[in-house]
Amino acid sequence: MDIIKRILVSGGAGFLGSHLCERLVEQGHDVICLDNFFTSQKSNVVHLLGKSNFELLRHDIVHPIFLEVDEIYNLACPAAPGHYQYNPIKTMKTSVLGSINLLGMARRCNAKIFQASTSEVYGDPEVHPQPESYRGCVNPIGVRACYDEGKRAAETLFMDYHRMNKLRTRICRIFNTYGPRMHPFDGRVVSNFIRQALANEDITIYGDGSQTRSFCYRDDLVEGFIRLMNAADEVFFPVNIGNPGEYTIKQLAELTVELTGANSKIIYKPLPPDDPTRRQPDITLAKKYLNWEPKVPLREGLQKTIDWFKTINPELYRPPTPNY
Ligand code: NAD
Ligand code: UDP
Repeated sequence: MDIIKRILVSGGAGFLGSHLCERLVEQGHDVICLDNFFTSQKSNVVHLLGKSNFELLRHDIVHPIFLEVDEIYNLACPAAPGHYQYNPIKTMKTSVLGSINLLGMARRCNAKIFQASTSEVYGDPEVHPQPESYRGCVNPIGVRACYDEGKRAAETLFMDYHRMNKLRTRICRIFNTYGPRMHPFDGRVVSNFIRQALANEDITIYGDGSQTRSFCYRDDLVEGFIRLMNAADEVFFPVNIGNPGEYTIKQLAELTVELTGANSKIIYKPLPPDDPTRRQPDITLAKKYLNWEPKVPLREGLQKTIDWFKTINPELYRPPTPNY
């Protein structure tokens, strides 16, 4: 195995962060999971608490913190529209002030630092599929802007710290990812559809369901994270990580009904403002620099996610996030 590194994962108790912590702990690294538990709960990492190379810190990255680390993965940020719109000013602070605090730590420790960015930097794209060179079409004053513009500003900060301080930065533009440990009430499409189907409730499609998304299974994504962090330092620019398989939301609803065997009826609700009409990653750079591409098809990943949802008690999670 490689040399043991001290690795900070901010947002480490969340859906993706908890899986990343798990992988890094398995690899033998000394892992610090930092989280303010705004959109997660300890149950996501409780199985790691007894490990001698895992440590859990309750902290909010909007405030500075001093730690000695070799690598930082910054995943701290509410990710679901209902969560990030709950307190949009806080969302922006988390992306901007939080990034400044962690970039400062990376500079002080000479640590490598990774930013969980997003396909939302492309907004409602006019270019399809989206390569990293596309600059995006974001409404800077809409209800999604607190997230989209916050993540864009964070990318700016990462690039400027790289240019000015020679910091070793990594920027991962994540496309919609799903899997076990998604918050059942986060309001995202996969969690909503599965929860509704398992309860034989109506499945709520927003708009006519013709909008598309490309869904990546969490194991594929976390593998991409680790490969990007371990890539050569020349890969300091943004890299898309996502599954190019593109589906309409209606197709996702139908597949969820088929795999759960639900009696649910599909119903239609108004489309939220600024909802992107299509999204598909161009993963040429990930293939070239990371030798990465996703392996898990939607049908297989969705089945695993459904199986996990069957094992949880939704009453133990915070109540439904207000959505549209
Ligand atoms: P999540 O909500 O499960 O995880 C985010 C974690 O960050 C939570 O544990 C939350 O409590 C924590 N957090 C939020 N604000 C914080 C703060 N100020 N200080 C400390 N901790 C804070 O969401 P996720 O899906 O696991 O997303 C993880 C990261 O990946 C996010 O940065 C998100 O923007 C990005 N991302 C995710 C997706 C996806 O499809 N899942 C897509 C694009 C980008
Ligand atoms: N969506 C839907 N029904 C739901 C939740 C979401 O039709 O119950 C739609 C939503 O309008 C969007 C897509 O599914 O077009 C993906 O939504 P999600 O919130 O998961 O992610 P994002 O819009 O950030 O990609």
